[in-house]
Amino acid sequence: MVLLADIVSDDENAVAEAASQIVRFANARTGEGFIAVTPEARKKFWLDRSRTAAIARHTNAFKINEDVVIPLHRLGDYSDGIERINIELSMQNKLKLVDTLAEFFRGHLPMDSENTALSADELIGERREGALELLAEVKERWQWMLDNLDAPFADYRTRYPHAPLDNPDAQPETLFKAQRDFQLRVSWKRELLEPLENMFASNNDIPLLAAVRKIQQKVLRGRVFVALHMHAGDGNVHTNIPVNSDDYDMLQTAHKAVARIMALARNLNGVISGEHGIGITKLEFLSEEEIGPFRAYKQRVDPNGHFNRGKLLPGADLTMAYTPSFELLGAESLILEQSDIGTISNMVKDCLRCGKCKPVCSTHVPRANLLYSPRNKILGVGLLTEAFLYEEQTRRGVSLKHFEELSDVADHCTVCHRCVKPCPVKIDFGDVSVAMRNFLRKTGNKSFNPGTAIGMAFLTAKDPATIKAMRTGLVGIAYKAQRLGNNRARNLG
Ligand code: SF4
Ligand code: SF4
Repeated sequence: MVLLADIVSDDENAVAEAASQIVRFANARTGEGFIAVTPEARKKFWLDRSRTAAIARHTNAFKINEDVVIPLHRLGDYSDGIERINIELSMQNKLKLVDTLAEFFRGHLPMDSENTALSADELIGERREGALELLAEVKERWQWMLDNLDAPFADYRTRYPHAPLDNPDAQPETLFKAQRDFQLRVSWKRELLEPLENMFASNNDIPLLAAVRKIQQKVLRGRVFVALHMHAGDGNVHTNIPVNSDDYDMLQTAHKAVARIMALARNLNGVISGEHGIGITKLEFLSEEEIGPFRAYKQRVDPNGHFNRGKLLPGADLTMAYTPSFELLGAESLILEQSDIGTISNMVKDCLRCGKCKPVCSTHVPRANLLYSPRNKILGVGLLTEAFLYEEQTRRGVSLKHFEELSDVADHCTVCHRCVKPCPVKIDFGDVSVAMRNFLRKTGNKSFNPGTAIGMAFLTAKDPATIKAMRTGLVGIAYKAQRLGNNRARNLG
C-alpha cells in the first residue's frame, strides 16, 4: 500500500517537521518514507512515477473502480480482506494454468524433428506421462492450499514436508498469513516451468517449451487482481480491478470479486459510495433504504428526467451496460481494425486521466468551460467511439449527431503539440485532432467552421506576404470587430 502526502506551508521548518513525522509513522509500521528535499530529487521521484504510469501502455485493460470509504481503524482489516481475495484469485488462475497445460500435454505436442528420423511421439516417449504426473501432483497441492487457507501452517508442513518454502524459518499462523507475508509463494516458474525445462531440455523440445510459455502468458492475461490506492486520512480507498473486456470469463470473475469487496466494506462498517460516487457497477449493492431518498428527491425536482436521465434509477445497473472500452469484444475489434476510428481510439487508449496536459493547452480555459482540455477531449473521443460501435453493432445507422460532436472536439485544438511534453504516456492530441479531421473529411462529415478554417490557414501559411496579409486582416480588422461586438453585447446586458 502506498500513501502519498502533499505537505504545504509557509514555514519551511514546519514542513520538514511534519514530513519527518509522517516518515516516522511509516517506519513504525514497517513502511518507508521519501522526502524530496531538492528540486532534482523531486524530479527524479516523479520520473520514476511516470515510468510506472507508462506501464499502462502495455496493459490496455480498463479498470472497474469501486471506491469505498472504510473507518480508519479498520483499514488494516480491509487491506487484509483484499489480500485474501487477491491470493484466491491468483491461485484460481494458477489452477486454470495447470488444467490448460494438462489439456495441452494430452494433445498433439509440437516438436522439432528435423534433424532426426524419429517421429514426434517417439521423441516425447514417456515424458508426456511424466509431465502429466507433475501437473497432477502440483494441482493437488495448490488446490489443497486454496481450500485450506485458514488451516494452521503446521498442517501444510506435515502434509507436504518436501514442498518448497520461501522462508523455512518463519512460523506463520495460517496458510493465508504465510502467503500474505511472502513466506510461502505459489510459483509457476519454480514448481512447473523449471521441472518442465529439465524434462524437455533438448533442441527438439524448443517448440514445446515455447508453447508452454505461450499458454502461461495467455492464462495470466486473464488473471484478475484488486489494486488499492487511497487518500491519506479520510478512509477513501480506490479499489481498482483492471480487466480486459474481450475476456468474458475475466469480466465475470471481476464482477464476483466486486460483490465480495462490497460485502467486505459493509462488514467493516464502511460505505460503498466513495469519492467517485455509485456508478453502474455498484448500484445493485445499494439497499432501497439507501437509494430511496435520492430517487424520491429526483422525482420531486426533476419529474421529467431532464438531468442525468435514468441515472441511479431502476435498470441503470450493469444489465443494460455496453462498455466495450479499448480492449474490445470480437466484433467491435473487427470494426475498429477496419476503420479510421480504430486508429484514433488507439492513439488515445493509454490516457491515464492524470490531467498533466491541462495547464499547457490553449483550449483549456477553466473560467469559460471545462470541456476542451486534452484529457476531457480524450474522454469525449472514448465515449464517441463507444457510441459509433454501439450503433454499428445494433445496426441502427450511425447518428449524424456523433459526427457533429466529433467535429466539435476536433475543432477545439490548435495543433500546437504542447500537450505531448507533460504527458507521461506521450499522447499528442494535436496528432489525434488531425486524424479526427481527416476521418471526418473522408466520411464527408467535416462541418465547415469559418473560424477554424481561417485559423488553420493562418497556422499552415508559409509565404511571408500571405502571413502578413492574414495577420493584418485577423488582428487588425477581425479582432477589432470582435471587441466591438463584445462591447455592444455587454452594453445591451
Ligand atoms: S493525455 Fe493528459 S490526461 Fe491523458 S495521460 Fe496524457 S497528460 Fe495525462
Ligand atoms: S495540441 Fe491541441 S490539445 Fe494539445 S495542447 Fe495544443 S491545443 Fe491543446
